Amino acid sequence: MFFSYTIWVILKQKRIDEIKTDFINNMTHELKTPISTISLSTDVLTRPDIIENPQRLNTYARIIKEENNRLKTQVEKVLQMASLENSSIELEKKEVDLHQLCLQTIRSFDLILKDKNGVLTTQFDAKPSIIIADAFHIGNVLFNLLDNAIKYSAENPKIELITYSDRKGIYLEIKDQGIGISDKDKKQIFDKFYRVTKGDLHDVKGYGLGLNYSKTMVHLHKGWIKLKNNTPHGSIFTIFLPFKP
Ligand code: ADP
Repeated sequence: MFFSYTIWVILKQKRIDEIKTDFINNMTHELKTPISTISLSTDVLTRPDIIENPQRLNTYARIIKEENNRLKTQVEKVLQMASLENSSIELEKKEVDLHQLCLQTIRSFDLILKDKNGVLTTQFDAKPSIIIADAFHIGNVLFNLLDNAIKYSAENPKIELITYSDRKGIYLEIKDQGIGISDKDKKQIFDKFYRVTKGDLHDVKGYGLGLNYSKTMVHLHKGWIKLKNNTPHGSIFTIFLPFKP
């Protein structure tokens, strides 16, 4: 009995070490790649042959913008992780118009949706759309769910963002038609560092933190987050946020 418990502890420690190493390797790669691309592109922008060619100038300006967005996302992920490690997160709650926050967040995905030939449609039925919340953290939650909906859809992602309300608060649904999540994975999907390891799209980079962070933040607002299957395929994440947490 003692022997098998010791083996279990060793294996668990080994898994934690693997996750940490993976995390550091991924993060280093994700930060270094956009920095070197931006640096190369800015060098090119100073070349006389490029300055005189508006089309090529535009191409490099676009690369810099995209890589800068990528860098911003990675830095936000590090900040999100730091929040999770801080057991006494101080939320800065004030009146937030959830529809405005959705529109603002959606804008970050304009370029990637264009590149992937995707569409994001909205249907805002919540009335009123004002809640008492921390706009920064709820904005991050929205960002994570939309980012996943796009990341885990193969070609031409079709995403829907829907809101509705009742007496108690606002419901927000993010629907995708992507690879979906199996019943087995559904049980663990909100666990810290959990990533589905098999499947078509598993060269997609990530840390397994976004959903854990999202769940923590929604709970801190006295709300909840749920996952169900979309038909015929894909996922639907529903968030409930009370008007007054
Ligand atoms: P990350 O995307 O960085 O790996 P998350 O915590 O956001 O971390 O998600 C955990 C895992 O859940 C992902 O690795 C992915 O396997 C799965 N997942 C999350 N959202 C979706 C989605 N919309 N469709 C399919 N799989 C998803």
